Amino acid sequence: MDSSPPSPQQAETRLVTSGRDTKAQKGFVNPPVFHGSTVLYPTAEDLHAHRGEFTYGRHGTPTTVAFQDTLMALEGPQCAGVGIVPSGLSAISTTLLSVLRTGDHLLVCDNVYRPSRNFCNGMLARLGIETTYFDPMIGAGIEKLFKPNTRVVLVEAPGSQSFEMPDIRAIAEVAHARDALVIDDNTWATPLYHRSLEQGVDISMQAATKYIGGHSDIMFGTISANAKAWPQIVEGIRLLGVCAGPDDVFLALRGLRTLSVRLAQHHRSGLDMARWLAARPEVARVLHPGLETDPGHAIWKRDFTGASGLFSIVLKPAPQKAVDTMLNTLKLFGMGFSWGGFESLAIPFDCDAYRTATKWAPGGPTLRLHIGLESTDDLKNDLDRGFAALKAAM
Ligand SMILES: *Cc1c(COP(=O)(O)O)cnc(C)c1O
Repeated sequence: MDSSPPSPQQAETRLVTSGRDTKAQKGFVNPPVFHGSTVLYPTAEDLHAHRGEFTYGRHGTPTTVAFQDTLMALEGPQCAGVGIVPSGLSAISTTLLSVLRTGDHLLVCDNVYRPSRNFCNGMLARLGIETTYFDPMIGAGIEKLFKPNTRVVLVEAPGSQSFEMPDIRAIAEVAHARDALVIDDNTWATPLYHRSLEQGVDISMQAATKYIGGHSDIMFGTISANAKAWPQIVEGIRLLGVCAGPDDVFLALRGLRTLSVRLAQHHRSGLDMARWLAARPEVARVLHPGLETDPGHAIWKRDFTGASGLFSIVLKPAPQKAVDTMLNTLKLFGMGFSWGGFESLAIPFDCDAYRTATKWAPGGPTLRLHIGLESTDDLKNDLDRGFAALKAAM
């Protein structure tokens, strides 16, 4: 018999094997869904000491532990724990409330998810926490924005509308020299394609609503933290009382098991469609860091092992009514905001409506596309019909 220690497994294998306890599940591959609030303690002494593997419904069930163990295995050895919250936005708000206090200052990338800005400008401002937005391409130049009370830098790589790719390694180096935490919204790439905790990020959050769920049927958020930040996250989750519903935890775990094949297809189809669109006469520019011509390509190649299916295009100047006609003509591309499911999406967007640190002037109407798991031949035919309708409506 081979007695050598098992070799470290590849991410695809860890997604399949982690967090499974076949014996505890009486042979079944998957853990059951535990609908539960009350956990009974065997003795008064156990009750007094809050002793037991599970202590209260809000604090987790065997299904949540299976999910947390699997995501931790994917994040890598820097991950000290995974917190579960009811949505991606809750991952952002819970994280920021856990690590900031009145009088603090935080730096936020100008391309972050708009509701993250709303949280900073609304609730954090009300609590006396000040936000400064910065150019996503700032790199080590972020140093000059630091104040003595800067505690946090929040980045999103790439931003989920405009797709600029911040240099997280350079930003983290400056932040750590100033004893600030770096928080990354890693929803676009997931830890399968971007192991941000290995690149200087202290807390990596995800809207697991997107690719981890993968089927447009759950709301779910995750917070992965390193050993330095994890105690604050655990405390924050406990104090705020956030948790997720048991069916959603089960579906998120099921989504993790197939994440690698789904993302590989989103990567392939996304790049195929991005290249095809870049060659279209109706398209002025494609914003996808996986394209060699993209300004963020070098950083993407250095820090990421793949791309997901979400990117944007800038059309040549056209009236909004003609663009609306194009969108109304598409059959395979639905119009909806939450991406990461199996289906393709197309929506117009306008970063200029909310950006403050940088000017967004794309020079034409902009569309964000999510490339789902349909055949790219069919998706191209659908867009062909859409472009024909656009031209006819000009
Ligand atoms: C969707 C999204 C969120 C919010 O996730 P919800 O689960 O919808 O609350 C946060 N960040 C990014 C980048 C997103 O795309």
